[in-house]
Amino acid sequence: MSNNKFKILLLEDEGNIRKLVATMLEASGYQVIEAATCEQGKTLYQSYMPDLVILDLGLPDKDGKHFLQFVRESAATPIIVLSARSEERDKVEALDLGANDYVTKPFGSAELLARVRSAIRSSHIRQSDTGKKTFKVQDLVVDFEARQVVLKNQEIKLTQTEYNIVAFLAQHCGKMMTYSAIIKAVWGEPPGEATIKKLQVNMANIRKKLGSRPGVSSYIMNELGVGYRMNGERDHD
Ligand code: CA
Repeated sequence: MSNNKFKILLLEDEGNIRKLVATMLEASGYQVIEAATCEQGKTLYQSYMPDLVILDLGLPDKDGKHFLQFVRESAATPIIVLSARSEERDKVEALDLGANDYVTKPFGSAELLARVRSAIRSSHIRQSDTGKKTFKVQDLVVDFEARQVVLKNQEIKLTQTEYNIVAFLAQHCGKMMTYSAIIKAVWGEPPGEATIKKLQVNMANIRKKLGSRPGVSSYIMNELGVGYRMNGERDHD
């Protein structure tokens, strides 16, 4: 790398928000490239090849989803979507189009920075872990060869389906996976009301087995109505 700062392309048309986010990211040591339209974003994306993109879905020239598809045609660059609370369906659609995560406006700086760190780190883990036989985060280990999940050195007894869900989330750690993405991967069927129920029941059992309690940060995060994310942050690297 010619410059050891991570480059973030910030695509947001509202000047005040853009300035605020840019200042915050720069204060945390990131290099920020700012764009206000989809077309400008595409040009800057191609010339800078950023490590991460923060993308507002409501852009003046084209829908942010258009930019998402443009990037995903050629690259797996992590993309965090910014969306308003009312755009639930847009969030799911953006995730299914390949966004890694989303943050709902209004958001706090700590929240956005945590998502940025997690998305950059996860994309590096994925690159360097390709073909790796285990996944580790804090006290949790997923052994893909033995099809085993170990927590604090103790094996967690999971059913085949439960294991398949955990392994799929681990392989995409740090990335918000929608219900439909998980269902397609685990059951090989299109999602419907019945399969979503099945997923939720399995998920509740997994979370219980992994010892998560409501309100306590856990390995698997649930975003109601959207999907699940395996925590990609490691305590010590
Ligand atoms: Ca906007």
